[in-house]
Amino acid sequence: MTDRQKLEIFSEILRYRTVSRQPGEVFDKKPFRETAEYLKKAFPQVHRHFKSETIGDGSLLYTLQGADRSLKPFMLTAHLDVVPAEDGEKWPEPPFSGTIRDGRIWGRGSIDYKAGVSAMLQACEDILERGFKPDRTVILAFGHDEEVGGNSGASEIVRILKDRGVSLSSVLDEGGYIYSYPWMKRDVAVIGLAEKGYLTLRLAAQGIQGHASVPDRNTAAGSLCRCLAELEKNQLTVKLCGPVEIMLQATSEMFRESVMASDRIPTSGEMIRIIEKWPSGNALVRTTTAITMIRGSSKENIIPAEPFALVNFRAIPGDHSLDIFNHVRSIAEPLGVDVRYEDTNQIHEPSGIASMDTEEYRAIQVAVRGIWPGIPVVPGIFPAATDSRHYCKIADNVYRFEPVHLGKDGLGALHSEGESITIEDYLNGVSFYTAYIGIVSTT
Ligand SMILES: [Zn+2]
Repeated sequence: MTDRQKLEIFSEILRYRTVSRQPGEVFDKKPFRETAEYLKKAFPQVHRHFKSETIGDGSLLYTLQGADRSLKPFMLTAHLDVVPAEDGEKWPEPPFSGTIRDGRIWGRGSIDYKAGVSAMLQACEDILERGFKPDRTVILAFGHDEEVGGNSGASEIVRILKDRGVSLSSVLDEGGYIYSYPWMKRDVAVIGLAEKGYLTLRLAAQGIQGHASVPDRNTAAGSLCRCLAELEKNQLTVKLCGPVEIMLQATSEMFRESVMASDRIPTSGEMIRIIEKWPSGNALVRTTTAITMIRGSSKENIIPAEPFALVNFRAIPGDHSLDIFNHVRSIAEPLGVDVRYEDTNQIHEPSGIASMDTEEYRAIQVAVRGIWPGIPVVPGIFPAATDSRHYCKIADNVYRFEPVHLGKDGLGALHSEGESITIEDYLNGVSFYTAYIGIVSTT
């Protein structure tokens, strides 16, 4: 197949409006069904050799049995659903057009994460054409609701695989990219070895509803605001987890060049004191505190009786949700502010940390170095959540790496208006998955 044909297939996949919906919202299965139909036509070898199944409302599961049944299968995962996108001036091309122009492919999902769906299938199609026969079973899993928690896609796939007695040696998912942190002069390939935990707390103060013309000196809203200010001042303590420590060591020379006017290589401690001032650096070394919603009364002249705020925390490996709750309560209680979990179903502890001493990690290194010589490969952690929160239940190790340059927007590129990927990145992505599958399937 020519590169042009590969790009046309990817472009077509971007045209289906596979938008995920929150529970309770109307979910349109049709674009997912149409995508699955199109994939059959676009990747005939994959559909001839892999067993393919539709799970739940539109997730896809592909299995290619390996010759050696004593080896644990390995999985590559991506997701078919995308966050909503409206046509607008920030989109140089309509978000569901898949337009190929100026060296880029434009569209919602072009990075997050139809690039993965398309490039993984393309890699399998290419190697099957060359007579590929794996020793180790290869599984591809594409969720349909990753953007809203994966509770009927990835979660259901995990249940089915568990029922079949499948235990995975590894999963390769999104959550690491080629980009640079503020202290880095050039891009590095960050392999996410862990993802942070998730917790939202509701802080509420009790008072008396009253008329704004005769206010008390101390209102419940005043207490709540003092408490929120104290929370921002008293951040959770720094925790240096293994992957971040190795990343800091690996990039200390760049740090010295771009941040310190010194000949000496900085220590991790010196680096932390500086990088924690940047939001992206801070997120690497501590549980973050983000005040996201504040509510008082419904009218400008009513003093609220029970103002509340929601505060969202992303927990670093090593911090448990209960530690965070206790930290917040120790600040809030003396100020008369009550603390509660907002939704106990939406508490996620930080993931485990994947090993760097595996064939999979080495395969990622080898594939990256082969395609982008000179780009350092470093471990890291992902501050958000992916479908891997489900897959980690049946996998020895989860690696998070999507072979794409995020550019100056960093992680902000993922759900941005004007989401697009370069033609070069897409085709290199196919080469990356080809190399990765080739190595891991035979070891
Ligand atoms: Zn994603």
